[in-house]
Amino acid sequence: MTRKIAVLAGDGIGPEIMNSTLGVLECLQQEFGFSAELEHAAIGGAGYDQHGQPLPEPTLAICQQADAILFGAIGGPQYEGLDRELRPEKGLLKLRSSLSLFSNLRPAILYPQLADASSLKSELVAGLDLMIVRELTGGIYFGEPRGIRELENGEREGFNTLVYAEHEIERIARSAFDIAMLRDRRLCSVDKANVLEVSELWREVVCRVAADYPDVELSHLYVDNASMQLVREPKQFDVMVTSNLFGDILSDTAAMLTGSIGMLPSASLDVNAKGMYEPIHGSAPDIAGKGLANPLATILSLAMLLRYSLGELALADHIEAAVGEVLDQGLRTADIAAGGDSVGTTEMGMAVVAALRRAADR
Ligand code: NAD
Repeated sequence: MTRKIAVLAGDGIGPEIMNSTLGVLECLQQEFGFSAELEHAAIGGAGYDQHGQPLPEPTLAICQQADAILFGAIGGPQYEGLDRELRPEKGLLKLRSSLSLFSNLRPAILYPQLADASSLKSELVAGLDLMIVRELTGGIYFGEPRGIRELENGEREGFNTLVYAEHEIERIARSAFDIAMLRDRRLCSVDKANVLEVSELWREVVCRVAADYPDVELSHLYVDNASMQLVREPKQFDVMVTSNLFGDILSDTAAMLTGSIGMLPSASLDVNAKGMYEPIHGSAPDIAGKGLANPLATILSLAMLLRYSLGELALADHIEAAVGEVLDQGLRTADIAAGGDSVGTTEMGMAVVAALRRAADR
């Protein structure tokens, strides 16, 4: 079966890291019989330059028709003076909402070879492999009413609304249980049910959905305890599921446990597990065009795309093992070299391809 993948390289280091990732994709096609049709499209600053919009119509159409979307990075100082609606970031936000990508997957993976990059003791984090599933399109970031109003005494007050409908909780819970089924089958739901009614409902619905997943071990933590446990003993977790606000904070904490922004992929899925896959880092204008960027977060985003949207679990495993192999060989881009010898973007990408070819020959 031929799969349609939309390829949005974007700005800054986006085209460089995407180039290396497409080399990996080509290798899967040549060596492992994977069949994909790629459609390239402009987004962010590149969308504005080519079509006057950060999310041009043809780009949205290509993404709507694709089975999955591979995304590089967007943004750059040259676009900062534009109207808010025309800025590159707007293109990404519009794409997420147009495709109803409500389930945000943020893995925190720390290859044992890079354990020294973490600010935590290496024995606490070496081999960390944790997935945070964050609800992305609801909760307090979108709830109405919201605003800043003036009270009778002249003082102003700001207010937001934390609201979740049952169907929103149910679909993020199902997404998280499905992901847990593809991993170690342990799911921890994070809420604040001791204080918030929204969380009370959250917990009730998550427990109801759990009945459909008897093989997944479900636990619950209050968010304050969860944040403490994340830095105390992060390897206790397999998958965590939580709301938009709590997930925003916890996923950044988890990412920083790994200490290497150039290594972390992410995904945003819709209700049918169609998704957009991207590194968590931005367009790194400071190193763009220099061939220094670490392509591994984007290459690992491709592995997630294969696993979660296309069901190609073996190919995803091959890519992740190939990344482990190049790290074992001692290859490091500058961001993970800790001041030691480093290789460039192209060399790192080619090393992953070489490791994949060796795996195909075995
Ligand atoms: P950034 O993630 O682009 O860069 C932060 C630091 O990390 C920089 O020093 C950069 O050189 C380094 N870095 C990032 N990715 C790297 C990689 N793959 N290899 C090696 N080093 C890497 O964040 P920023 O500097 O705050 O933002 C730069 C631009 O990116 C801004 O325009 C911002 O709006 C945009 N941005 C885009 C996204 C996205 O596309 N999803 C996310 C965050 C920021």
